[in-house]
Amino acid sequence: MAEFDYLIVGAGLYGSVFVHEMKKRGKKCLVLEKRDKVGGNIYTEEIEGIQVHRYGAHIFHTSDPIIWNYVNQFADFNRYTNSPVARYKDELYNLPFNMNTFHQLWGVATPAEAREIIERQKKECGITQPKNLEEQALMLVGRDIYEKLVKGYTEKQWGRQASELPAFIIKRLPVRFIYDNNYFNDCYQGIPIGGYTKMIEKMLEGVEVKTNTDYLAEKEVWDKIADRILFTGGIDDYFGYCYGPLEYRSLRFESEVLDMENYQGNAVVNYTEYEVPYTRIIEHKHFEFGKQEKTVITREYPLDWQCGMDAYYPVNNEENNALYEKYRALGEKENKVLFGGRLGMYRYLDMDKVVKAALQAVEGIKE
Ligand code: FAD
Repeated sequence: MAEFDYLIVGAGLYGSVFVHEMKKRGKKCLVLEKRDKVGGNIYTEEIEGIQVHRYGAHIFHTSDPIIWNYVNQFADFNRYTNSPVARYKDELYNLPFNMNTFHQLWGVATPAEAREIIERQKKECGITQPKNLEEQALMLVGRDIYEKLVKGYTEKQWGRQASELPAFIIKRLPVRFIYDNNYFNDCYQGIPIGGYTKMIEKMLEGVEVKTNTDYLAEKEVWDKIADRILFTGGIDDYFGYCYGPLEYRSLRFESEVLDMENYQGNAVVNYTEYEVPYTRIIEHKHFEFGKQEKTVITREYPLDWQCGMDAYYPVNNEENNALYEKYRALGEKENKVLFGGRLGMYRYLDMDKVVKAALQAVEGIKE
C-alpha cells in the first residue's frame, strides 16, 4: 500500500471538487499544483480591494439545482447577471442580440419590425449551404449584425478571416425578440463573494497541497506514493506529446490599475471591430458591485498558441479530435490514472460542467 490513496495533479476546479469528495470518503489525498497558487484558471487575486479574474472573466451559471447547491456550500454567490456591451467604433450595443440591440441598430421598437429586417437581410444574402463561417453567420442573422457584431470579433478570436474559418464554429447565433440583456438562459448565476480562490481554498481545506510542483518533472517519484492518480493537466503533455501537440487558442491579459472609480460602467465590454487588437475589456469591480476609489481593468488579446504557453480554448476540429482519441486510447491503458478536467478531456467546459464531471468521476469509482 502506498502512502496516499490518491494523488491529484492540478488544483483547478476539477481537481478541487474531486479531492473534496475523496476526503469526505476518508481517502488520504495529496494535491500537486505546478503554479504557485491554487484555483487553476478560475484563480482570483485581490488588488485594490477588488477580486481580479487573472485568467479571464468567470461567471458561474447553471440550470442544475444540484450543482448550484453544491457550489453554494463553499461560497455565497452575489446576484451578478452577465450583460455584456459591444462597442463597434463609436457605437454601443447590448448583447446578446435582443430587442435592445435591434433598437440600437435600426431604431425599431417592436419584435415584428426587427424580425422583418432580419428575415429580409437573411434572404438578401441568398445562402442556403454555407461553406464557411462568414456565410453561416450571414445566413443566421443577416448582414448588419454580422458585420458590426460578429465578423471582427470572431476574426480576432481565431486569428483568421471569417471566410477562411469552418462554418461549424458557429452552430447558432441566438436572437431574442424580447428586451432582455441577460447573456445566459440559466436559472442560476452569480460570482462567489470574496472570489473564486477562497471558494477553492474551502474545497481544499484539510488536504495537503504542494504548489510550485510539476508532477511530470518527477513522475516516477510521485507515482510511487499513491495508489491512484487523477491527472488534470494536458493529456498530450502527460504522454510527452508522442503523437504531437493538441491545438489550442491562447490569450494574453494586460491589466492596469486606474486612478478613477469607474472606467467603463460595465464588467464586460466587447470590442467587435477588427482594428482594435483586443477582444474585450474587463472591469473587475463590476462583477461584485464594488465601490472602491480605484478600478482594475484587463484587456484580453487572443493569441496563436504554441507549446509551453497557457492553453485556453481547445480547437476541436476533426484533426485535433482524432488526435485526442489516440491519446485517450493510450490513457485507458494507464490503469491507475484517471484523466479529467478541460485539459485532460480536451474539451471546453463551463465551470458547472466541470463540477458535474468531477462528481460523476467520483461516483464512478468502484472500491
Ligand atoms: P484548470 O483550471 O486548467 O486546472 C488545471 C490545473 O492543473 C492548473 O492549475 C494547472 O496549473 C495544473 N497542472 C497542469 N499540469 C500540471 C502538472 N504537470 N503538474 C502539476 N499541476 C499541473 N466557465 C464558466 O462557467 N463561466 C465563465 O464565465 C467562463 N469563462 C471562461 C473564460 C476563459 C477565458 C476561459 C479559457 C474559460 C472560461 N470558463 C468559464 C471555463 C473555466 O475556466 C473552466 O471550466 C475551468 O477553469 C476548468 O477547470 P479545470 O480544473 O478543468 O482546469
